[in-house]
Amino acid sequence: MDERFTGSFTQQEPIPEDGIAAALEVMRHGRLHRYNLAEGEAGEAALLERDFAAFTGARHCLAVTSGGYALACALRAAGVRPGDRVLSNAFTLAPVPGAIANAGAEPVFVEATRALVLDLDDLAAKAETSGARVLMLSHMRGHICDMDALMALCRRAGIAVIEDCAHTMGADWRGVPSGRHGLAACYSTQTYKHLNSGEGGFLTTDDDALMARAVMLSGSYMLYGRHLAAPPPEAFETVRYEMPNMSGRMDNLRAAILRAQLRDLPAQCARWTERYRAVEAGLRGVPGLTVIERRAEEGFVGSSIQFLLEDWAPGDIGTVLARCAARGVALKWFGAPEPSAYTSRHDSWRYAPAQALPRTDRVLAGLVDMRIPLTFSTEDCTLIARIIAQEVGRAYQGAARRAG
Ligand SMILES: *Cc1c(COP(=O)(O)O)cnc(C)c1O
Repeated sequence: MDERFTGSFTQQEPIPEDGIAAALEVMRHGRLHRYNLAEGEAGEAALLERDFAAFTGARHCLAVTSGGYALACALRAAGVRPGDRVLSNAFTLAPVPGAIANAGAEPVFVEATRALVLDLDDLAAKAETSGARVLMLSHMRGHICDMDALMALCRRAGIAVIEDCAHTMGADWRGVPSGRHGLAACYSTQTYKHLNSGEGGFLTTDDDALMARAVMLSGSYMLYGRHLAAPPPEAFETVRYEMPNMSGRMDNLRAAILRAQLRDLPAQCARWTERYRAVEAGLRGVPGLTVIERRAEEGFVGSSIQFLLEDWAPGDIGTVLARCAARGVALKWFGAPEPSAYTSRHDSWRYAPAQALPRTDRVLAGLVDMRIPLTFSTEDCTLIARIIAQEVGRAYQGAARRAG
């Protein structure tokens, strides 16, 4: 009898008790809108911004309604105009090209490497030919490229970097927190990310003018003085007449839930990576399966894991996924021709001009993805890896037999 896994790949942990208590307090006093404050009260949203800025080391932080909102807001606040071209990853999730479209701009996709990071040679070439002034860099699935090389390249090319840290909240590159290399960084607090408020996001930057524009865009009216992690009122002198209000404010209820979780974030990140390492250890040495080696410089958070079934026939990959699913292990394949669940490919974002990305296509054709929720124990992770290893092994041997 084959072993089965019975846990849920979509079940997160409960909100910590102190977060529930803080949320109840907000509901009891009823001041949920971030600018609805009693005398002398700072408000949970402003306090959360102060706490998150301190956590990353950024001077400024704005809490908003989603990670996707933060991305579009960052592009606008960085001066991206309708019709502009914006460089971005060919391998990412739909909110990233969606944010570029939201700003009226056009994505120019950069190839991914076999290590699932941005291909810096392709970036250098497209930085020169595209006319883009901004790179929206997605640290997709938590894989961080050589940030020193990337920043040097972008500085030389005069390209501003906006980091999408949806999968790298709490991660670092050579000790520098992810999101602290570029001009601005965006994070998500949607249920499947590293903090969970259902929906939500952050925009961080050290740049006074950018943050003043973002605060106005987010719908501060003339109440920006109530922020605790924004530039002083002088920075809003002209900006307040220039930026449209595109409401996307965080509320005090979600902020209360998030502040409690933020205190535990470093410990939670360590728990994710412990689980990741347990899965990774079980996948090493499986014939036909390529583990994606993480670099020593990368302080990643293992909230999901990827591996490659390189140059496999699509039918054989489908067999592995179906057999794993039958044994309770939910895997996603980035090579599927049709978008499904949370995965889609650059060729299904048809609002963007079609682009030839042969290297990315080759990587995605063999790319398998799995979420690692913290509700799994490390023993669960070892069992899951055993199931994947067995099914990959069976399909690989089957293919070898057919090939004779
Ligand atoms: C989740 C996610 C976002 C932002 O998502 P929201 O659902 O808008 O908070 C951005 N980029 C990536 C890669 C994501 O996975």
